Amino acid sequence: MKNQRVVLASRPVDAPTPENFRLEEVPVRELEDGEVLIKTLYLSLDPYMRMRMNDGDSYADPVKIGEEMFGGMVGRILKSRRKGFSEGDLVTGYTGWQSLAITSDPTLARLPSDMAQPSLALSLLGMPGFTAHYGLLKLGKPKAGETVVVGAATGAVGTVVGQIAKLKGCRVVGIAGGSEKCAFAVDSLGFDACIDHRSPDFRKDLKAACPDGVDVYFENVGGDVLRAVLPLLNEFARVPLCGVIAWYDGEKSGKPVLAAEVMTTMLVKRIEMTGFVILDQYADHYAEFARDMQGWVASGKMTIREDVVEGLANAPEAFIGLLKGKNFGKLVVRVASDDGI
Ligand code: NDP
Repeated sequence: MKNQRVVLASRPVDAPTPENFRLEEVPVRELEDGEVLIKTLYLSLDPYMRMRMNDGDSYADPVKIGEEMFGGMVGRILKSRRKGFSEGDLVTGYTGWQSLAITSDPTLARLPSDMAQPSLALSLLGMPGFTAHYGLLKLGKPKAGETVVVGAATGAVGTVVGQIAKLKGCRVVGIAGGSEKCAFAVDSLGFDACIDHRSPDFRKDLKAACPDGVDVYFENVGGDVLRAVLPLLNEFARVPLCGVIAWYDGEKSGKPVLAAEVMTTMLVKRIEMTGFVILDQYADHYAEFARDMQGWVASGKMTIREDVVEGLANAPEAFIGLLKGKNFGKLVVRVASDDGI
């Protein structure tokens, strides 16, 4: 039995390139007590993986050179020597960019074995959905009638932020790259407006879409988008600081926004900006999220567009594209079909 895996071949200097990844085939060893063997069905591709490619300070450990890329997945257990997990169980956990994983991962969780759309465990019902729910409701504290702005609006997190804000009675303005994504945000997700950050009229259009200013800015991107939102923030606005993807590639990525611009706005407008990493919140808030989101999904109040890439070999190219906005919806790789065990 052979495991196909994608390892980190070298660290990127700025934007990742295909040369930073290597596809390998390695034999699968025997299981030890406490371990399971999982066939990966879907691999999640997420922006945080870019930070794990660096060898520097971050909230997550760097991937070592030659080690498989870190990542979340949904898979089927082929063999188990772990109490509580059986052959045939559908599970989700963090076993990386590989087709067959042997793991004792303590975060491994069972999903309903007959789940109609297992990949939702990587979006609405998983980490991105939880991030949106916690960040918006606990830190953004939106009230009905307020204006909520979210960047990367058609991505995994932004999609959910906007839909929850609509359920709470807010005016929702998305920001996305291109007219097709913006049309989707309004027509399919129900946002009140969506502004193209690549348009030359971006700042003017954003201001026009927020006639009462901005009460909650869910920060996913940083860069020029942050610069455009700053002057529109109302007094006592809340800014859940979720991600700054415009800067993940280091100095050569998006233009810097001066600390003076941000800090002066925060002081003058008494802004509450709070950084958060969702891993910290599982113990206290996950149950509330799961209850809300399962209800919304079951009643058809929450949708997500998936961008499905076929085959593990295509993961590096798809991930490089994600950082440039080439994905349209939650990016997942279909690694294998679920044809039983
Ligand atoms: P997405 O599915 O939204 O994909 C990333 C998107 O970011 C791209 O499609 C692109 O969309 C947008 N983007 C990339 N570069 C820029 C840029 N320079 N300016 C504006 N937009 C850009 O990703 P996720 O929903 O998974 O993640 C969104 C953010 O949330 C990321 O910053 C991520 O790191 C963060 N995050 C943080 C977590 C936490 O615990 N704090 C947990 C999960 C995610 P477009 O084409 O529309 O510009």
